[in-house]
Amino acid sequence: SKLVPPHIAAIEPYPPGKPIEELERELGIVGSIKLASNENPLGPSPKALQAIEEKLETLHRYPDGSGYYLRNRIAEKFGVPMDGVVLGNGSNEIIELVIRTFVQPGLEVIVPNPSFLVYQLSVQCVGGSLVFVPLRDLMIDLEGILKAITEKTRLIFINNPNNPTGTVLPRKNFEAFLEQVPKDVLVVVDEAYIEFADPNGTFLGFDYLDRRGPWVVVTRTFSKAYGLAGLRVGYGVMDPAVADYLHRVRQPFNVSTPAQAAALAALDDEAFLEKSRTLVREQLPWLYQQVQEMGLDFQPTQANFFLIRMPVEAKVVYQAMLQEGVIVRAMNSYGLPRHIRINVGTPQENERFIRTLRKVLKDLG
Ligand code: PMP
Repeated sequence: SKLVPPHIAAIEPYPPGKPIEELERELGIVGSIKLASNENPLGPSPKALQAIEEKLETLHRYPDGSGYYLRNRIAEKFGVPMDGVVLGNGSNEIIELVIRTFVQPGLEVIVPNPSFLVYQLSVQCVGGSLVFVPLRDLMIDLEGILKAITEKTRLIFINNPNNPTGTVLPRKNFEAFLEQVPKDVLVVVDEAYIEFADPNGTFLGFDYLDRRGPWVVVTRTFSKAYGLAGLRVGYGVMDPAVADYLHRVRQPFNVSTPAQAAALAALDDEAFLEKSRTLVREQLPWLYQQVQEMGLDFQPTQANFFLIRMPVEAKVVYQAMLQEGVIVRAMNSYGLPRHIRINVGTPQENERFIRTLRKVLKDLG
């Protein structure tokens, strides 16, 4: 239909999974586990839950459209100006806001590939041009990105650690890269999984905001290490001048009252954060070892998920695992048809995953 603009018709839909209950009903199974969306298997921070409860009686009011307390706390915690913090309906919304603010048809956005799919989707929505730079040995190719910059480049997305590879850029390389990017190109650093990364050496804090000057945006989320994916709250840290433009574009009440309250409480729940990190750090070596014993290649990660290469099509493994009640992600939509991605679960979930993978691969011959 001529109603649909060609750049919208060209978009491949982001494949949302069915609700677990529905999948189970169709397959006639119960008690399945989901390791497909990089969620926190420990649930939400108990302090966040309590904070939500305290806000329930204010639900007839609109949320604080300025996100005052949460922005203030984030600014305090990370030593950045409050005017440079923008809240979003998940960090997805920050990504989308940056794109809607700065990209128009005819302008280019550089996206490493494979990386998080929302970058491409949002660029396509505004009719911008995507310039893909393939990963090199599963690492973001900074030199390749520098070479891809043209007069039309407006944004560069860097996901650190990168989804789906779990890889982190060496800090030195990243800093050298930032100095070489022209100052009128905005670099978006998506740190959705940074809380899981090794704090020694490779951790990228906010200090490079100073080095880079105004044109860098760092995005973070409460969906992963903080366990609040269902509430949809994330944030971006940037120069206040950039934040000012994003505020003009965003919806006035984009983050709900419970989400703001829970995020504020979660930010201060250091014990929960540490528990989440420790779970991942303790479970990964065991998972690696089990996968290795099966003779499978895997990509060591600094996030809460990792890639495993299958001896057959990953989609087939996905289907077979699903029948056994273990939900993993087949990476064909990321251009990795032989890889599955799983996030670290509880020890029981991880054991069940390994047991099921062994069985499924044996059955598939
Ligand atoms: N960035 C990356 C790399 C992600 O993997 C995700 C979640 N899948 C997000 C951003 C978005 O997270 P949220 O919108 O829940 O903050």
